[in-house]
Amino acid sequence: MRRLVDLHTHSTFSDGQYAPADIVRLADRRGLAAVALTDHDTLAGLPDARRAAEGLPDVRFVPGIEVSAKLPHGMLHIIGLGIDERAPSIVELARRLRQARNDRNPRMVERLRRLGVPVGMEDIRAVAGSAGDEEDRIVGRPHMAEAIRRKGYAETVQDAFDRYVGRGGAAYLDKEKIDPGETISAIRDAAGVAVLAHPPQLAVGDDDLEPVLRRLIEQGLNGIEAYHSEHSPRQTRLYLELANRYRLFVAGGSDFHGPVKPDAALGKPPVPLVMVEPLLSAVGV
Ligand code: AMP
Ligand code: ZN
Ligand code: FE
Ligand code: FE
Repeated sequence: MRRLVDLHTHSTFSDGQYAPADIVRLADRRGLAAVALTDHDTLAGLPDARRAAEGLPDVRFVPGIEVSAKLPHGMLHIIGLGIDERAPSIVELARRLRQARNDRNPRMVERLRRLGVPVGMEDIRAVAGSAGDEEDRIVGRPHMAEAIRRKGYAETVQDAFDRYVGRGGAAYLDKEKIDPGETISAIRDAAGVAVLAHPPQLAVGDDDLEPVLRRLIEQGLNGIEAYHSEHSPRQTRLYLELANRYRLFVAGGSDFHGPVKPDAALGKPPVPLVMVEPLLSAVGV
């Protein structure tokens, strides 16, 4: 009996290094009972992942997406799990998210040029790879940072973030973000569970989390990511308690991106299947 799952992974369709089918195969080799693909802002990797899972009867596949939503301070990521990726609400959400990137990226490239860092969209697209069609892949700041490094304008990706593309960096521009309520509705209208991802990254502190959580629950949030590669055991316990108190589905995963993020190996931390089984049942996986 397989006992562990990973419900948070990124593929080459966003900023991960493994193709969707390879993530599913790796999950099977690691002996996981279920794996979700939750690329940033795109649904385009899901068909490949599902096809790979069809040949692997021991691993259940959970279609997902991770969305950056609007929050006055800090960052708010909402994961949709068990979504029907053909549902109009989620297709439209993905379209708006792609549009927001298409609006921002060339403007950041222009800022870089003015700063004497001539890194073009074609350099950035080269980093983003060749998965699917061009309009399927999402292109973001991690790709920009790597392109800047490759051209020799930064020592490391982190250096490129600190100086240029990170919040506060000289070329940074925010992209239009979508309201948490709209994000949650789009996920739930697509038959998915809307999960608050990695609560520590909200940057509100564990003590101030509850008011934020309550507001999101009013807007339809119905899950919380209790397990994550960056959570301490104490944080995981707190989020499990909150899940219990507010009747939220429990979710969890590594936030796997491949070797670029060595601390987030697939299947780490171990997420018990029994804890996420209510969520999987609710979405029919
Ligand atoms: P984007 O969605 O294109 O704005 O890119 C956001 C992604 O960039 C995040 O999910 C992080 O993986 C990465 N990121 C953002 N800020 C930093 C930073 N200061 N240092 C390293 N990575 C960062
Ligand atoms: Zn990512
Ligand atoms: Fe995230
Ligand atoms: Fe993620």
